[in-house]
Amino acid sequence: MDKAVAEFLRSLDRSLFLEGPTKRFADYDGPLPIGFNQTISQPSLVAYMTDALDLNKTHKVLEIGTGSGYQTAFLAHFAKEVITIERIKELSVTAQERLNDLGYQNITYIIGDGTKGWAELGPYDRIMVTAAPAEIPPLLIEQLRVGGKMVIPYGERIYQQLVLVEKTADHSISRTKLLDVAFVPLISG
Ligand code: SAH
Repeated sequence: MDKAVAEFLRSLDRSLFLEGPTKRFADYDGPLPIGFNQTISQPSLVAYMTDALDLNKTHKVLEIGTGSGYQTAFLAHFAKEVITIERIKELSVTAQERLNDLGYQNITYIIGDGTKGWAELGPYDRIMVTAAPAEIPPLLIEQLRVGGKMVIPYGERIYQQLVLVEKTADHSISRTKLLDVAFVPLISG
């Protein structure tokens, strides 16, 4: 893993993205509940997925599934600009407050259905999906810039594969399997 990503993982206090009794488990390397049947992701996996995107300060990134905002902080730190979509308004608003407090000003928050991406602000250099659809949504591939990369879990409920999708040319992608994972479902509509 890139040294800078590992350092950021160590420096970012995950308890800032948790409320109430879960706060004291912040350093546990696993998902934790954040309400609304959703979870904050596992720290080592968040760092791994960030590393797999190979970000730099020229990149415009689309994130699907803001959740607690924990993964969003990694993206905002390593990319130029982040557009993050969350379907649950309360989670989006809370994440925005936390990330504002941390000083991130390069994030646009959208409440909506991320399975459709957000064409108005695309194309994107990078796409990070933090909830699992059954199949890779075609509109996300469409909104990825040629030469761009997407990290996405997909497959059946509970057991999915995390893949790196690279857009090699218009209408042409390659997929590389990274890991077996278990994410909450990406809910469309
Ligand atoms: N990276 C987040 C993980 C959140 S869990 C974190 O570390 O906190 C996945 C999130 O995806 C949940 O908040 C869920 O509400 C959201 N989600 C599920 N389906 C979605 C959709 N179609 N569009 C946008 N967000 C969605």
